[in-house]
Amino acid sequence: METLKEIVARCEELAFDLSFKRAGEWKSEQTGRVVAGYMPVYFPREIIHAANGLAVGILGGGDKKLIIKGDAYYQSYICHMPRSIVELALDKHFDGFDGFIFPSICDVIRNLSGMFQLLGQGKFIKYLDLPQNFKQHIGGTFYRHELQTVLDEIYKLNGVEVTAERLNHSIGLFNLNRRLIRQLYQIRQEFPWRMTAADLYHVVRAGNVIPVEEHNEILARVLSLIAEEAGEPLDKIRVLVMGAFCEQPPAGLIRTIELAGCYIVEDDFLLGSRWIQGDIDTTSADPLEAITTAYLEKSTFSSSVYDVGNPKEARLLDLIRRRKVDGVIFAAPSFCDPALLDHPILQKECNDKKIRFISFLYSENTGQFKVIKEQVGTFSDSIKLWD
Ligand code: SF4
Repeated sequence: METLKEIVARCEELAFDLSFKRAGEWKSEQTGRVVAGYMPVYFPREIIHAANGLAVGILGGGDKKLIIKGDAYYQSYICHMPRSIVELALDKHFDGFDGFIFPSICDVIRNLSGMFQLLGQGKFIKYLDLPQNFKQHIGGTFYRHELQTVLDEIYKLNGVEVTAERLNHSIGLFNLNRRLIRQLYQIRQEFPWRMTAADLYHVVRAGNVIPVEEHNEILARVLSLIAEEAGEPLDKIRVLVMGAFCEQPPAGLIRTIELAGCYIVEDDFLLGSRWIQGDIDTTSADPLEAITTAYLEKSTFSSSVYDVGNPKEARLLDLIRRRKVDGVIFAAPSFCDPALLDHPILQKECNDKKIRFISFLYSENTGQFKVIKEQVGTFSDSIKLWD
């Protein structure tokens, strides 16, 4: 039986395998299987699963890929992730992929979908316009139509008819996946010393590139391992990290925050895995409708979503209360418009409510953490000494 350390090491290898080996193996095990890449933040992977496909999350090459050609595709004042995704495409990392889905999150991702078309990547490219209107008869109808066009593309490739039974089964597997991840976060909220935030990050991130059935087994095993007491609580403050919903921070940065005197008990890393808050109905005769309703009614908040009527400030405060955090770390990717437009609003709310926070910028390939360690360490000490 694998230990926690061994599982985390396996997950880290899977999560940063830029050859997407497991997806390739899975596809070759049976004819008619389809691999579809999707970009952050959120995409309902259930529909690809039900169509005999594997949705693979593409998050950039992080600090594992040197960007040379990708820089030529973008101006300098654009975040890092799309350059590295273009570099991966040009270096043929996605050659085994059948198609790509680009959920609408910002102009950069919209343009990236156009570049993939120009580069002739895959057999289909879908720019998926996630609705910003949360009324069932407007945004819901539109979203459902968008999802159907994705299914139509997969059908053209493998001829698999997505029945209600198939889709309900897939929804059930992803419900379980979200539930297990929620339970891991819940345990870490109470006992953050049992597993580091970086280890949890690797375990969750592996789920982006392997079949959900395999990821559910990993999550269940990790849960059983951290259900028992392990390690010793340290004198650290509890923080929420906000702003990393799209381009991911390097794992070294996550480690640095915890080494500098914090327990990260909530974050928005890999937000797509936790986007739907709660289960999606698995008994509906129209499961596509159930997925649509879940998006409209159970989505978490993020800078990628316009939230009139459900302000992010209030939702952030609610999260701060529920996770009992001592402070907030606003960590946004450099040049990330959605995050950097939201943060002043969220920070004003923190100021008004006397919630301590700091902020800094990062790139997925940031390699020097000394300054961040000093900043976070001072933040932690100041809360411990004077709060
Ligand atoms: S990091 Fe921000 S700006 Fe860059 S692609 Fe993601 S949402 Fe867009």
